[in-house]
Amino acid sequence: MTDTQVLIVGAGPVGLTLALDLGRRGVSCTLIERNATTIQLPKMERCNARTMEIYRRLRISERVRDAGLPRTAPMDVFLALSMAGPALAHLPCPSVAEAKAAIAASHDGGLLEPYQLISQYTLEPLLRSIVEALPRVTVRFGCEFISFTQEKDSVTAVVESNHSTKETIRAAYLIGCDGGSSTVRKQLGIRLAGDGNIRRLRQALFRSDDLYEHVPMGKGRHYHIAEGPLFPFIILQDSTRHWTLHAAASSDAEMAEIFRKSLAMPVEFEMLSVNEWTQHLLCAERYGDSRVFIAGDAAHLVIPTGGLGMNTGVGDAVDLSWKLAATLAGWGGPHLLASYEAERRQIGLRNVKASRAAMSGREGWRAAYQPNINDNTPEGAATRARIAARFDTEQRKVTEISGIESGYRYVNSPIVWPESGDGPDPDNVAYFPTTWPGARLPHVWLSEGVALHDRLGPGFTLLRLGGTKTDTTNLERAFQSLPAPLDVMDVADKRAREIYEYDLLLVRPDLHVAWRGNKITDDDALKIAATAAGNANSVA
Ligand SMILES: Cc1cc2nc3c(=O)[nH]c(=O)nc-3n(C[C@H](O)[C@H](O)[C@H](O)COP(=O)(O)OP(=O)(O)OC[C@H]3O[C@@H](n4cnc5c(N)ncnc54)[C@H](O)[C@@H]3O)c2cc1C
Repeated sequence: MTDTQVLIVGAGPVGLTLALDLGRRGVSCTLIERNATTIQLPKMERCNARTMEIYRRLRISERVRDAGLPRTAPMDVFLALSMAGPALAHLPCPSVAEAKAAIAASHDGGLLEPYQLISQYTLEPLLRSIVEALPRVTVRFGCEFISFTQEKDSVTAVVESNHSTKETIRAAYLIGCDGGSSTVRKQLGIRLAGDGNIRRLRQALFRSDDLYEHVPMGKGRHYHIAEGPLFPFIILQDSTRHWTLHAAASSDAEMAEIFRKSLAMPVEFEMLSVNEWTQHLLCAERYGDSRVFIAGDAAHLVIPTGGLGMNTGVGDAVDLSWKLAATLAGWGGPHLLASYEAERRQIGLRNVKASRAAMSGREGWRAAYQPNINDNTPEGAATRARIAARFDTEQRKVTEISGIESGYRYVNSPIVWPESGDGPDPDNVAYFPTTWPGARLPHVWLSEGVALHDRLGPGFTLLRLGGTKTDTTNLERAFQSLPAPLDVMDVADKRAREIYEYDLLLVRPDLHVAWRGNKITDDDALKIAATAAGNANSVA
């Protein structure tokens, strides 16, 4: 007997998302967090489009938006000499309301949800309140994971509550969502590979009730100040009253001075906190061992430029969640949980690379800085023009990466049907809809405001498209024999058939494509079902 089916260590955004999906799938889990409360200091502030799509599937996307930056607020990015000056360069980015209107009017198989600015210190308590309401989830703050031992059928963890009482918790699986210095990862003996300790920066949080309304160049989310060598970077937080400043300052006190100088206008502010943080580009050499797995920052650490930290971790959580639920329910085959590392580690490595590319974009325009940038001379004007032009191309490596955010595909996954050929480039920075097996299911509208994604149940779905009359009972029987949950859904809409490229599409519980085709032979039906459910060694 175990105390809980899944023990999750760490109630950051990844552990909370994992607990939410597992709890919704009816898995009993215990989520422990060593801190007494959720995070207080600012960290991430942008859920990307893919995370918001995942939160829509978890039926919380509108709650996240209600708690975050108002839907009509611009998301623009600026380069300027100070917050008081005109913009040297300006990258307009649609507000959530504008992006939603564009999505509602488009039928190109693109994205279902736009991004959302929400500060991590707002998101975590929201997720916590949702998770605490789930009957199958126990949440314990002030409870620290100390160590574990693994047996054949279970994992036993030693935990300590309120720095005093030690106890053991026995679980079928243990998941370390315990951040960059993960104790779970260290106890598994898994190393992080890549570049660690690249740069140390200071981050300060300010409150200013007037600043948002008084920035002459316009409202936005990111303001880069073209002032070397510190290059202050000011980020709007979700309240529109709070701002963070990032700079390589030598003391906490200097941060207030840099902020004052960057504002260059008489606006009142208060510095609420300062902390130091370190940039890393690292990925774990393995994602787990037997009954213990790692996810989120425990498995990969990126530079926040490009916003691929928490967002990658949320992708880990929903990949792992259905595989744990399926294995615990008995229909997940022996290869299902092993596929977590095969699928998600390649995305961890890819996103570390993408984060490096995003950072190189930022360094690209910063390299055009010259100390004469403020001079009222032809040379000063030339420096300003040069840095603005570089910003206009290089900063897009940070802001225009929808393919990295949503176009990832599980290449050579053992639970995805192999197709001959290479398939579309899974590392393209632009998003192109594809149903190549392993890819995220492109979004299509069934009718006004009704997305096909919203109609898909928690198990597998076989989509029959464009009015096909193909007999699919062999695949349905193959799933019944496992027995793995399969819904069959007929979608007559011609546009959906066009976007999905084939008459038949097998979609996984996490809305990635497992197989596609126009007909199914009896022999293939058994192999497709066995592969998707993690029962097949490999497919021909
Ligand atoms: C300045 C900055 C800006 C960022 N901006 C973005 C952004 O815009 N978008 C984005 O996607 N990412 C961003 N990130 C990265 C993002 O904050 C992290 O990727 C994210 O917090 C990772 O979530 P996590 O749940 O994996 O880990 P964490 O948030 O680190 O949570 C781990 C939790 O585990 C707990 N824990 C650790 N050890 C134990 C133990 N032994 N027992 C019990 N509990 C334990 C910790 O207390 C913590 O609460 C940013 C990061 C920084 C520093």
